[in-house]
Amino acid sequence: MEDEKGILFILSGPSGVGKGTVRKALFEQDPALQYSISVTTRKPRVGETNGVDYFFKSKEEVEEMIEQNELIEYAEYVGNYYGTPKAYVEETLKAGKDVFLEIEVQGAMQVKKNFPEGVFIFLFPPSLEELKNRIIDRGTETENLVKNRLLEAKKEIDMMDEYDYVVVNDQVKKAVSRIQSIVVSEHCKRERV
Ligand code: 5GP
Repeated sequence: MEDEKGILFILSGPSGVGKGTVRKALFEQDPALQYSISVTTRKPRVGETNGVDYFFKSKEEVEEMIEQNELIEYAEYVGNYYGTPKAYVEETLKAGKDVFLEIEVQGAMQVKKNFPEGVFIFLFPPSLEELKNRIIDRGTETENLVKNRLLEAKKEIDMMDEYDYVVVNDQVKKAVSRIQSIVVSEHCKRERV
């Protein structure tokens, strides 16, 4: 039995929890899933490619997209805009494919208003200490940015109850397998003759 529409999965959680790593590992395992590439005004990090990791835009370009209602959600996060383009998500779901968003918590809460049927997954760090080490280890952030990201992370953890599932990212492999179980289970929920 085929589902008519794909399912929208929202993978969220604090910066540094490993959302990007888990998402990439998940997509390697399951190429049928579709990833919605976000727009951002943040500068590319070393090794990041425009149109693969993000669509890197100017502030004016993102503000124009907001104005034109071209984003499902957007958030200002540590001084930059991040947003999810609407057209790709709507078209892909319509074509019967599952779409994954990997976004921070403010944005996830906006998606919840507009797509209450979405499946909201909160990726949880093994501990706050571990999260701090991961943010520092990334080595791409100044001391001030690390502080801001940690403050943001604490606020984000308070929103956990709003999610359908909590997945602890103690090991990437385990986290991926838990998310795969969620995907299967959500499809089973929707199977009706
Ligand atoms: P980073 O700068 O580390 O790539 O991302 C910072 C935060 O923004 C991460 O928590 C990431 O998941 C989130 N993010 C990435 N794309 C989007 C988006 O389209 N919308 C929102 N609200 N957050 C996003």
